Amino acid sequence: MAVIAVYPGSFDPITNGHLDIIDRGLRCFDELIVLVGYNPAKKFLFTVDERIDMIKTVIGDEPRLSVDTSDGLIVDYVQQKGARVILRGLRAMSDFEYEFQMALINRRLNRDVETVFLMTGSKWFYCNSSIIKEASSLGGTVTGMVPDYVFRKLKEKYPKLKNNNS
Ligand code: ADP
Repeated sequence: MAVIAVYPGSFDPITNGHLDIIDRGLRCFDELIVLVGYNPAKKFLFTVDERIDMIKTVIGDEPRLSVDTSDGLIVDYVQQKGARVILRGLRAMSDFEYEFQMALINRRLNRDVETVFLMTGSKWFYCNSSIIKEASSLGGTVTGMVPDYVFRKLKEKYPKLKNNNS
């Protein structure tokens, strides 16, 4: 039976760190669904449609990979799709407490769904959407942290952002 995993997150915007988790997730699971979630506690720079557009553009054509959105509970979505795994990435210790709580809550909500963590690649340890947005808004550089398409979308929001190669 095919093992389907769901990779939920804000992806505001998708970064090279997320892409690394997606690539490695595809080596572990038969199918992967990137799920752009709606988190009422967060303010987003990009709309859900913009975030989905960026993800679809940068992942290209891979039949085992799809992108979706949901405003409900992740475990409910996972079950609806006949999936069994929630995939998450772990960077620093600071991620751990939140991720641990989420995994325990999701387990309590549905014991048939397992959360699986992949450690970040060392190159992506400091790569996170919040830092990228902050650096962009202050006219910094985000070289090497986001794909070119995402860089262009950030530049539309923050014209002061320094060019990727400068
Ligand atoms: P959320 O808003 O749910 O934290 P994010 O879009 O920030 O969503 O991240 C989604 C998932 O990807 C989370 O599990 C996060 O830890 C992971 N992730 C984000 N950036 C990286 C990175 N550089 N390396 C590994 N995992 C990452």
